[in-house]
This record gives sequence, C-alpha cells and structure tokens, in this order.
Amino acid sequence: MKQDVKLFTVGPAQMYRHTLEVRSHVVPYFRTPEFSAMMRKNREMLLELTDADEDSEVVFLTASGSGAMEAAVMNCFDETDRLLIISGGTFGERFEKICEIHHIPFDALRLGQDEALTAAHLDSYNAKDYTGLLVNLHETYTGQLYDIEMIHNFCNRNHLYLMVDAISTFLCDEYHMRRYGIDATIISSQKGLCLAPGLSMVILSRRIIEEKIERKHSTSLYFDFQDYLLNIKRGQTPFTPCVGVLFELHDMLSCIIKAGGADSRVGEVRARCEYFRSKIEELPVHLPSFPLSNAISPVRFEKDIAMDFFTYLKDEKNIMVNPVGGELGRCSIRVAHIGDLQMADYDMLVEEMKHYFTM
Ligand SMILES: *Cc1c(COP(=O)(O)O)cnc(C)c1O
Repeated sequence: MKQDVKLFTVGPAQMYRHTLEVRSHVVPYFRTPEFSAMMRKNREMLLELTDADEDSEVVFLTASGSGAMEAAVMNCFDETDRLLIISGGTFGERFEKICEIHHIPFDALRLGQDEALTAAHLDSYNAKDYTGLLVNLHETYTGQLYDIEMIHNFCNRNHLYLMVDAISTFLCDEYHMRRYGIDATIISSQKGLCLAPGLSMVILSRRIIEEKIERKHSTSLYFDFQDYLLNIKRGQTPFTPCVGVLFELHDMLSCIIKAGGADSRVGEVRARCEYFRSKIEELPVHLPSFPLSNAISPVRFEKDIAMDFFTYLKDEKNIMVNPVGGELGRCSIRVAHIGDLQMADYDMLVEEMKHYFTM
C-alpha cells in the first residue's frame, strides 16, 4: 500500500508536519512526574478548547471513537434510564446498537437520508420521561450538522442529560459545552485533531459525574470511568495508554492554542470548505440541502459513479477521498477539509473531477 498519498479523508486525515516530527521520536516510559505534568496540561487545554466548565473532567481512553461511545453510554446510563437517540445515519445506529447490547431503554428519532432535523421532530418527544439524549452532532455518514441550540433547548425543557458524539465536529465547527449545557463530549484523535488513531477522550460535566457516574456500579474493568477519574487526578490512566499519541496531542493542542484557539482553527477549516464548495458549483454535482459541517463536503453525483471515481483517484492519482458505505455510496463521496491541506490541493482535486466528467 502506498503511504505518500494526499488524504482528503476525515480520519485519519492528512497529518501536519509538526505531528510527523513528534511521531519520529522514541515513545518514553509514562509512569513519571513529567508525563503526568503533560497529561494535566492536555486536560487543561481540552477543557479550554471545548469551552467546558473548569470543574469538568477528562477521561483519556486508548480506544477508537466507537469504544469511547460505548464506554460513555455504559458509564452514564443503565436500565433505569430512558434515552432519546437522534439517528440520522450509521453513527446514530451505532448508539442504538450500544443501548441494545447494554439493555438501556431508548427511542430512536430516525431521519431519512435527505431529512433535516427540525424543532417539530423534537417537539413530538416532549414530556415523555426521557432521562438523556444521545446525538452524533455531525452525522458523518450524511454530513448533516444538527442544530445544537435546538437540541440544547429541548434537553433543557425536558431535564435531560445531553451526550454529544463530537468526533467529527470538534475543531471543524464551533463547539461550546458550557453554553449548550453538554454533559458528555466524545472526541477522537484521528478526526479534527489530525493525529494517529487510537486515542479517544470523553469530557464530562461535574453534574453527570456526581449524579450518574459516581452512583453506578461499573460493569467493565477496562472501561470503568471511576477508575479513570481517580487516576487523572495524578495525571495518569489506569492502564498503559497510547503514549505516543498523547505526545502528538500535547503538541497539537499547544499549537492550536498558540495560533489563536479553537475559533481560529475552525476558521481555517471553514475557509477550505467554502473554497471547495464554491469551486464545485460549476460541476455536475450537488450537496444535500440540510445544514452541513465544515469537516466534509458530501458530494453527490448525478450518476452512480462514486466507487469508480474513488478507485480512479486512489489508483491513478494517489489521492484518497472518503467513500460512503451502504446505499448512499453509489452516488456519493465525501471530501474532507481538515488536515494539512492547502487551497492548491483543492484546485488539483477539482481539476481531477472536471477531467473525470469529460473523460
Ligand atoms: C469517526 C466517527 C466515529 C468513530 O469511529 P471509529 O472508527 O470507532 O473511530 C464515531 N462517530 C462519528 C460521528 C465519527 O465520525
């Protein structure tokens, strides 16, 4: 497999030079005061970038994003809860499966492929004794970015805990835990942070820690949040973490904060996103009409050529765009706007698209 490809994928994404530099060093031993100090700094910077309250806490898990989704659900909810899941694609379905496996009662608010989430959808679930709401704020399968203010208002009205899978929206779109009363935020190393995969983080509000996590008896050894919360006080994790990725994280968070914080990083992603979308206006493609994240453009073709186009770019041009699984995959690819990509890279991709359509 060729590794010097240009990645227009949402995770792993095209890594930044400074991350590659960090990756080139020996991975050190980690039960040391120096590593603990770095972890405390990682925790602090994450709270700043997610706009979390200072008494929030971070769980650092060595797992992919789905592992963190499952861990977060298991540690916050049980069979005495009743959850509402916004289910608008394969990631929403993943939350449904997690609840099924762990016997947590839920209803799914299912959306069609081209259907935007509206206040009317949510209103029909008012006053139904739910205890929490789960949402993949950017449903990466379709590209839809749900309206967090609308979801926050619904949760507030109905006194629900709000758990957000922000894996593909953090550092791509604005994100504010405090402003929107978010109790749990799930993020992962390989998406907006553009690091190697393997690290996921769950940022927890004080209220969900005290009212849910600390009152639950854990049903898992590896995913016991009480254990992680105890250990992070001394800047450690219960088990060996992905030490190398945590160094990449420290480097990346420091860089982002030095360069102006989350807003300025989001601005860069948005600029690439708007540039690409304006350039494809003249092509025989379209974007769905619901609100979109800046992370990716879910490009829809007029014919079922998506897989052929994907293979052509990969094999002939060493360019990787994101294919789409399932039904949508025949006519749709996704082009990411995160990672170390320049406008010239998008010029090149658009030229390839033009060339392919006239071939
Ligand atoms: C990428 C992603 C995940 C995590 O997938 P993993 O393959 O387990 O890392 C979860 N939710 C969303 C919305 C994602 O985009």
